[in-house]
Amino acid sequence: MASVFVIEDEHQIRDLAVRALSNAGHIVWAEATAMAGLQGVIDNAPDAVVLDLGLPDLDGSDLLRMIRSVSDVPVIIATARDDDEEIVRLLDAGADDYVVKPLSGAELEARVRAVIRRAEVTGPSHCLEVGGIRIDLRSRIVELDGEPVTLNRKEFDLLAHLAARAGEVVSRQELYAEVWRQPYGGADKTIDVHLSWLRRKLGETAAEPHYLHTIRGVGVKLIDPT
Ligand code: CA
Repeated sequence: MASVFVIEDEHQIRDLAVRALSNAGHIVWAEATAMAGLQGVIDNAPDAVVLDLGLPDLDGSDLLRMIRSVSDVPVIIATARDDDEEIVRLLDAGADDYVVKPLSGAELEARVRAVIRRAEVTGPSHCLEVGGIRIDLRSRIVELDGEPVTLNRKEFDLLAHLAARAGEVVSRQELYAEVWRQPYGGADKTIDVHLSWLRRKLGETAAEPHYLHTIRGVGVKLIDPT
């Protein structure tokens, strides 16, 4: 089972793609505009993207470039333009495969499966491990000592960011910029609140830290306590 994100504005084609991929057992999300699509790719870290070239707010080829600047997710272009030069240009720009409309659900699903398989073989690891914490960045699943831990979106992003830099003190400014995408406001308690939730879910407290250590006036670090 994989997660697939469909970016397509024509609802009939979108429904067909969503149905074909869901029936094959994938988790499927869909958006109808390029901007919502880009945000969805960032937020959901899907295993594959199906991208329509003719979107209302932005050309799909521009969106492909934007996706490539933030993610290595496999992208399958859905195009009505059966134009060799255009397809070659898109493959050069980072598309992994393409399907020509009208779509065949079975063909689309087979191509999705193929790009995901290739990405799994050749791609970088999508798991972070720090001590007994295991973070699957793609499926956004966290385990602690083999047991699943349920985190909300920001708790997950915070933990993943700290785990990627395990052993280093990460500043509050960096966490605001990278996790919340906001400038640091100084007196803001957002990070502290999320840290305390995260601590509770990891079964520790600020007074008796295990993984999560706050360095007063500097930032936070995640360490391997084992
Ligand atoms: Ca379209």
